[in-house]
Amino acid sequence: MVKRLVLILGDQLTPDIAALKAADPARDIVVMAEVRAEGTYAPHHPQKIALILTAMRKFAVQLRKAGWQVAYSRLDDPDNSHTITGECLRRATEFGASEMLATRPGEWRLIEALEALPLKTHMLEDDRFIASHAEFDAWREGRKQLRMEWFYRDMRRKTGLLMEGDKPVGGQWNYDAENRKRAKPDLLRPKPLRFEPDEMTEEVSTLVEAQFPKHFGRLRPFHWATDRAGALQALEYFTTHSLPRFGDEQDAMLSDDSLLSHSLLSPYLNIGLLTPIEVCQAAETAWKTGRAPLNAVEGFIRQIIGWREFVRGIYFSEGPDYMTRNALGHTRDLPPLYWGAETRMNCLSRAVAQTRDLAYAHHIQRLMVTGTFGLMAGVDPAHLHEWYLAVYIDAFEWVEAPNTLGMSQFADGGLLGSKPYAASGAYINRMSDYCEGCQYNVKDRVGPKACPFNLLFWNFVHRHRDLLSSNPRMGQMVRTWDKMTPDHQAQVLTESAAFLARMDGGESV
Ligand SMILES: Cc1cc2nc3c(=O)[nH]c(=O)nc-3n(C[C@H](O)[C@H](O)[C@H](O)COP(=O)(O)OP(=O)(O)OC[C@H]3O[C@@H](n4cnc5c(N)ncnc54)[C@H](O)[C@@H]3O)c2cc1C
Ligand code: SF4
Repeated sequence: MVKRLVLILGDQLTPDIAALKAADPARDIVVMAEVRAEGTYAPHHPQKIALILTAMRKFAVQLRKAGWQVAYSRLDDPDNSHTITGECLRRATEFGASEMLATRPGEWRLIEALEALPLKTHMLEDDRFIASHAEFDAWREGRKQLRMEWFYRDMRRKTGLLMEGDKPVGGQWNYDAENRKRAKPDLLRPKPLRFEPDEMTEEVSTLVEAQFPKHFGRLRPFHWATDRAGALQALEYFTTHSLPRFGDEQDAMLSDDSLLSHSLLSPYLNIGLLTPIEVCQAAETAWKTGRAPLNAVEGFIRQIIGWREFVRGIYFSEGPDYMTRNALGHTRDLPPLYWGAETRMNCLSRAVAQTRDLAYAHHIQRLMVTGTFGLMAGVDPAHLHEWYLAVYIDAFEWVEAPNTLGMSQFADGGLLGSKPYAASGAYINRMSDYCEGCQYNVKDRVGPKACPFNLLFWNFVHRHRDLLSSNPRMGQMVRTWDKMTPDHQAQVLTESAAFLARMDGGESV
């Protein structure tokens, strides 16, 4: 019988993933490879590399126990070619294999690389998601506007989550009106579960420190789970302790509690230690057993079967050129403050410091702090895409790129989101306590202490007035700008240009 390779990538750590389901342990050889190219094509955060490599090693042990032969390349193996394709070819020669089974990677870059291999590669659809590619494409066919809410309702019907027959439980599809409150410091808020690194995590961490010494981000302390048992514990802990407050605190930001009631489950979902359906069912059970209110559970499930599936559908249906979109024509370099250079803007300083320390920031920090600032400053979306891909522990292109380029930067011209997420400092002031500790004054629109989010917001409205005036959700902003006196407008534009010039010149702003 012809020997076949079965490729398992670092985000495919699921025992019944398509390639394993189609393979035969008696005949096929599983190939897993830690390679430098994957750690460096973007300068990934050390905690992200450590999580993936540790979880891969543990998954390989599990596969061997289950009877698979695993050809595993370690980062420090002398024969390692340090690319995924190089390792596939090396193993093909070693085992005399001419065929390979693979689950379709979550990134066009790797799909194209595997397709170019001189091996007969059977690329199977990744069926760990709720919607298949064909289902998403059929849903999108003929629609002028792609709105997540409609797609989400179909996913509710498909999964039966929070449904009574064909009606949503409680009579409403969406309980956001009850969510999204400003958070208050609360000593009783449960802290997320922290995992102490075991021997294997320590061994990998030492390797990561040696191999990627210049990457942005602190490796230690490292508190992530690295196997399915740990991920299940994190899920159980979240549904019991944090889910009840998830809805209320979903959009809030606090200086002294950067995690609030978020689940921190995205890395486990994205590398395959948890499946989306089991996570949603656990949340639904929490509601059914009276442990969490409907507004929290519906909001949480919507993020997973709604947003997560929707952005994946967009990524794959749009194709590889999505990553080059730049509808607003922004060209600025990424300001050094994103890599930790000092800034007087407390909101950005907090969000970046937290990212450096934890490889994590929650959605609103990504969208309304680092994202909104980059958008309004006119940063090239490709630079922001590379940054988000590098610095977050859960960042894989299929989910990161649509969120960054589409939702946060409007680079796809409004395909994914209905409006650019531009906002003055008032939004951050409403949803956080950051402004209280800031050297700028959130109430000042101009002057020496004017909040840069205010300056840049009106600058953005002015620059993109044609686009915004035709947008039902932003048109009012253009009218407000038009009502300001010409002198005031000129002052805003002069001061915002001066701010950007100082930032571009490398000054701390
Ligand atoms: C600019 C930008 C970049 C982002 N990059 C990524 C990324 O690389 N990887 C990633 O998984 N998410 C990304 N997100 C979405 C979201 O910020 C993260 O999923 C979330 O912060 C993960 O933390 P959590 O598990 O505590 O989420 P929770 O707030 O607890 O939410 C629960 C789950 O819902 C899912 N989810 C929530 N929002 C989204 C969304 N917009 N898109 C997809 N899934 C969502 C996640 O799986 C998450 O684990 C990005 C958002 C923005 C604005
Ligand atoms: S005042 Fe402006 S810059 Fe400072 S924290 Fe508030 S929004 Fe951020």
